[in-house]
Parts: sequence; C-alpha cells; structure tokens
Amino acid sequence: AAKDAGRGVYRFYADAMHNQASERKAIEDALRDALAKDELTLLYQPIVDVAREKITGFEALIRWRRGDGKVVSPSKFIPIAEESNLIVPIGEWIIRTACDAVARIGPGYRVAVNVSPRQFANEKLPATIMSAVSASRIEPAQLELEITEGVFLDESPENLAMFQRLKRTGVRLALDDFGTGYSALGYLKKAPFDKIKIDQSFVLGAADKSSMNAAIISSIVGLATALDMETTAEGVETHDDLALVRGLGCSHVQGYIYGKPMDLDEILALIGEKDGHVVARGYKSAR
Ligand code: C2E
Ligand code: MG
Ligand code: MG
Ligand code: MG
Repeated sequence: AAKDAGRGVYRFYADAMHNQASERKAIEDALRDALAKDELTLLYQPIVDVAREKITGFEALIRWRRGDGKVVSPSKFIPIAEESNLIVPIGEWIIRTACDAVARIGPGYRVAVNVSPRQFANEKLPATIMSAVSASRIEPAQLELEITEGVFLDESPENLAMFQRLKRTGVRLALDDFGTGYSALGYLKKAPFDKIKIDQSFVLGAADKSSMNAAIISSIVGLATALDMETTAEGVETHDDLALVRGLGCSHVQGYIYGKPMDLDEILALIGEKDGHVVARGYKSAR
C-alpha cells in the first residue's frame, strides 16, 4: 500500500509539473501575438527629487491586457519572455514606446526603462537604443536604463564592455533592485552607473523602530555618495518612510505616496498642473 501511495504522490507531482509547463507554453504562445494585437501597454510612475518635491522622470512599467480582459503581471510574463527570447522584440517595442512618451512629456524629464539580462546580452542593444533616441528626437540622457543586479551574476569582460558601449551612447544607467542580488561591490565601481535604486523590500516599513532597514538604506546611500551616484528609494508609501529616506539622504523617491504607475495621458495632466511639482499623499497600503 505504501508503494501505491508513493506512486500516487509521484503521479501528483508529475501532473502538477506538466500543468505548469503547459501553462507556461500557453502564456508563451499568447505573448507571441500580444505585440501584434496591441495588448501590451506601458504605464509610467513618477520619480521625484525629494529636496525639490519635483518630478524628474518616470519609470516605464509594462502591462499585458489580454483579449479576455485579464491583466497579466510583468513578474509572471517577463520571465517567460526572457526564456523564450521574445524579450528581444518586446524590449525593442518598450524602448521605442518609452522614448516617444518622454518626447511628448518634454525636455527636462527622463524616462527609465527596465532592461532584462537577455536584452543586455544582445549585441544589438546599443544600436536599438541609438535609433530609438534619434527617431523620437530626445536627448540620450533623457533615457535611463535600469539593469537588475542579476546581470552581475556573470562578471564577464563582455558585460563590462556592454556597460561601456551603452554609456557611450549617452544614456544613463541605473542599478535596479539593489541589495536583493549578489552584489559585487568592487564591480559596482567599474561599471558606469549614474544611480542606485534601493529595493522596496528595504524601504517598505523602514520607519518602524524595530527595523534594521534604516541602517541598510543609510549604508547604500553612503556607498552611492562616495561613488558619485544618485539614489532612488523604491516603494515609499507612508509619510513616516518618506521622512526617513529623506533624512537618510536619498536623492529621489518612487512610490505610491507620489503616484502609482499611470497612463501617458494622466502623466501629461499631472505635469501640466504644477509644472511637475507634487505633494506627498499618504497611501494606505492594502496589506
Ligand atoms: P521594478 O523594476 O523594481 O519596478 C518597481 C515595481 O514596484 C513596480 O511593480 C511598481 O509598480 C512597484 N511599486 C512602485 N511603488 C510602489 C509602492 O509604493 N508600493 C508597492 N507595494 N509597490 C510599488 P510592477 O509594475 O508590477 O513590476 C514588477 C517588476 O517587473 C519590475 O520591478 C521589473 O523587474 C519588471 N518589469 C516591469 N516592467 C518591465 C519592462 O518593461 N521590462 C522588463 N524587462 N521588466 C519589467
Ligand atoms: Mg525598475
Ligand atoms: Mg526596482
Ligand atoms: Mg524592485
């Protein structure tokens, strides 16, 4: 009987694995058509200079609204796009769309785009960027590439060379999700980053007295300052956390307290109101 039970458990896991694999395959097939069907859109979330309380730019965040009305989260489909290499054509669309958006928003503002490891490994990335920048007639420095720490897993000369090639196009480079990966601090010095984005896992609730996160944020800010880089604290929702990260010297803040990701028309209206000046509104977290 024990043997039968074991077989049952095996069958259970095999089925579960099969279901997972076929779900991934189904998402991959649908994603392949999503671009052509106009199901992908970019939302933009304000990034605010804390000292001036002024928007300096926006992070472009992708959304997939499927034909049946369901919205698929990027954390679900970006990894599938990565594995299937669909991220390359989708990534080109993201870069072109984001450059067009910041052209409409206007000079003095930047747009930040997430670049995944496969895109980063693609030899054609600098050419893609240069043609998008010139087609939308923006300054290269109005485009910022956010590269997650995961890319650092491979500290190869190829990666270092790609950072230099990207830098030479004139775009800005930001190190995303800092603190969540396997940071190689020495490497950070060799790569030409303009900004470090402090992951929201350190920021959410950091003002709690019991939290160690303030110490972590403080040391990241110290490191960034020494290396002449800006810092953005991600995931600021409350006035207490805003006061904390401001006090610790973060130069920029991104979070629901200043605005959720929104569509381009909402961004244009927001900028129009007070020339980019914004007021922090306490956000009550749903959790
Ligand atoms: P990320 O690049 O670290 O983006 C920040 C995420 O934090 C976004 O989630 C944003 O909506 C969320 N966020 C911002 N402020 C707050 C806040 O105050 N509270 C909370 N709880 N969350 C906040 P989103 O849009 O779901 O994106 C998740 C991740 O998916 C991104 O993390 C990024 O790694 C990836 N991603 C999103 N768009 C793209 C894209 O166009 N290309 C690529 N390659 N990856 C993308
Ligand atoms: Mg990002
Ligand atoms: Mg981030
Ligand atoms: Mg993050």
